[in-house]
Amino acid sequence: MSARKLWLMVAALCALSGCGSDSPAASAGASDQVEAASRCNTLTEHPWCDAAKSAAERAELLVAAMSLEQKIDYLAGDDPQASATGDPYVGVVNGIAELGLPALRMSDGPVGVRGSPATAMPIPLALGASFNPELAQRVGAAIANEVRHKGNDLVHAPVADIVRNPLAGRSFETFGEDPLLVSQMVVEWVRGAQAEGVMANVKHYLMNTQEGVVSVPPIAAVVGGRSVVNAVVDERSLREIYLPPYEAAVKDADVASVMCAYNYVNGEPACSSPQLLQGVLRDEWGFDGFVVTDYFFAQKDTVQSANTSALIEMPYGVFFSQPLLQAAVQSAAVEEQTLDANLRQIFRSLFRFNFFDRPSYERNDELIDQAAHALLARDVAEQGAVLLRNAGVLPLTEEVKTLAVIGKSAEQRPSGGGSSFVTPFRFQTPLEAIRRRAGPDVDVQYADGSDLAAAAALAAQADVAVVFASNIATEGSDRYCLSLDCTLADAPDSLLLNSLQNGAPDFLDQLLDPVFASSPIREVLDQAFAPILLGAPLLPLSHDNQDALIAAVAAVNPASVVLLQNSGAVLTPWREQVDAILQVWYPGQEGGEAIARLLFGDSDPGGRLPLSFPDKETDTPVAGDPQRYPGVANQAAHSEGVFIGYRWFDQQQREPAYAFGHGLSYTDFVLSNLAVKQHGDGGALVTAQLRNTGGRSGWAVPQLYVGLPSAAADLPQPPWALKAFSKHWLRPGESVSLRYELDARALSYWEPLSGTWQRAPGNYRFALGESSRALSLQQDLSFAGG
Ligand code: BGC
Repeated sequence: MSARKLWLMVAALCALSGCGSDSPAASAGASDQVEAASRCNTLTEHPWCDAAKSAAERAELLVAAMSLEQKIDYLAGDDPQASATGDPYVGVVNGIAELGLPALRMSDGPVGVRGSPATAMPIPLALGASFNPELAQRVGAAIANEVRHKGNDLVHAPVADIVRNPLAGRSFETFGEDPLLVSQMVVEWVRGAQAEGVMANVKHYLMNTQEGVVSVPPIAAVVGGRSVVNAVVDERSLREIYLPPYEAAVKDADVASVMCAYNYVNGEPACSSPQLLQGVLRDEWGFDGFVVTDYFFAQKDTVQSANTSALIEMPYGVFFSQPLLQAAVQSAAVEEQTLDANLRQIFRSLFRFNFFDRPSYERNDELIDQAAHALLARDVAEQGAVLLRNAGVLPLTEEVKTLAVIGKSAEQRPSGGGSSFVTPFRFQTPLEAIRRRAGPDVDVQYADGSDLAAAAALAAQADVAVVFASNIATEGSDRYCLSLDCTLADAPDSLLLNSLQNGAPDFLDQLLDPVFASSPIREVLDQAFAPILLGAPLLPLSHDNQDALIAAVAAVNPASVVLLQNSGAVLTPWREQVDAILQVWYPGQEGGEAIARLLFGDSDPGGRLPLSFPDKETDTPVAGDPQRYPGVANQAAHSEGVFIGYRWFDQQQREPAYAFGHGLSYTDFVLSNLAVKQHGDGGALVTAQLRNTGGRSGWAVPQLYVGLPSAAADLPQPPWALKAFSKHWLRPGESVSLRYELDARALSYWEPLSGTWQRAPGNYRFALGESSRALSLQQDLSFAGG
């Protein structure tokens, strides 16, 4: 095995499991050298440097000047180990100095810059919970600003994936389970980022709905793993649920690039799917940017990929290496003109984003306004915090003189693992922040909770007890179950139906064959990895005994608050026994202070659930059906169709523990005067009044849901679908007029036979409320079809 191949393999396996990504950053390395000034701003002699010409003309001129070798060079990354160096980039396409073609640097990601210290924002799910697209724009701008001041041109974010399965390991990187909410957040995030002069790379197109189970470091999940699983999904679900956020990113935010996913979709690799990459993305939506592959093993072939899309293989040219692409051109399997067209497409975007005409971005942390970004991170943590329950103990009053803080995570900064992990610029633990905020008049005592009896004794003598709980989530592995205490042993049997023994060899075949099938190292790799797969330690995905700890505290002190720092939905079996539950997700570097401010009422919890919290493990759309999840023989049947999230709970008439859209404020609101009328070309206009009837200022998030009539028995409609929402800060007694305009598309369903959006004739039900299950105002309206 050549050294390069060995390195490639090791780096690939590392990248698959995100290894190296959650260790503190190494000091800045030599790879940060910004290339010599070789751009159009200094090299004016090149004809494509004439800024008076259009992007298309300039791209044409540039490609015409390139040799085949140079062309191939720019179609793949050049640094497979970038994500492990501690430098603030995760991939680079080297420049070509003699052409004035600069290096293209790429950075993660959705929570902030990966690699070197940066502002660690709350997870995107917290941002989704804010139901505030304007905030998403500010976060996109702040992250992109850091991406830029760390010398990068493109950011691998935002994540536009929809949570289908609450166990999915990367749920925390998404904005939630509803396509409208996710679309609005994605659009504003991209706009904010691109206004900073950084190209956004929306990901992971498409159907990256699971990481898989039975993960073994450093290898990704074995059963239903993301690199090998095929999402089998019908056209209507694609159109109504999974595609809209990407469609919005392209049509409404003019996103520069799209990252194609690891998995297969209906039998085609996402990174060479003609239907997704050519048909939908370019022909239908008019996408004019470029595609970047997810890292290692996402691209699965040379010829079909090259013939399908203007695509850059990351982080290194395997299928788009010189030998393979040269051979493809020589055999005419890929025409050189096709590569030219692909490169023109890529360069058009780069010219459009001013990439050639500006100097390289300077890597200099001092240019980052850390204080402003920290304040934004705190704002997101507060606006995304969901008060699930409050019998009255929150906010804490001056009468509280003794406060018991319990649980290890009060002293930690829980955050998601993998490529979105960020090393924060600074961090204060929640315990420290609570102590500071409480001041000298409140006696704050702490127990880490490892000794239940000691924790309960501490709680019993306190006026109020705050129990911290948290879960572990990471890229590369799904969670085994939804409870706070969860190990593989607790996983439902169906998850293990594909046994490790069956899964492991299968997994290795599918992972290794595309690259190493005819290589002698294939056997070596098998021998090396099979035993690891069969017997290695599993990723620890749980903290112990948290449910018991909460129950023990609640049993001795009715004024107990559960403070959840979670990646997503968890089971809350103790919810009726505690006074309050505050869900702050993984709240980022300013989470400690945000928690203290929320507990003491300095701010109002502004979040609403961006995904349903099931009552039981067995209540989710994929539970108990291995065909659906994790899939059988790597086929994951998305046979629940459009019925995911609250659409599923509503259709099945199951009561969630906490519904999508739910979240309390410290004040009260009343909605009134709902009026609905036909509007524009087949749309509707909805108006209403909202008033703060409580005694404090606070956040309201009115939500408009519509129940469409079913056009045919085989096209059942979800009872309710979110069609509009808004967010308002209202003082006591203050009112606001609400006005939502819905266009015809918002009232349409995807008709699979004609392949078009249609509006069914019949009765449309409109409902306005404070969650998907608290719809206080309803009105019907009839429409003719169309
Ligand atoms: C992840 C991407 C990430 C990339 C680079 C991959 O493993 O799926 O989301 O952007 O690594 O770090």
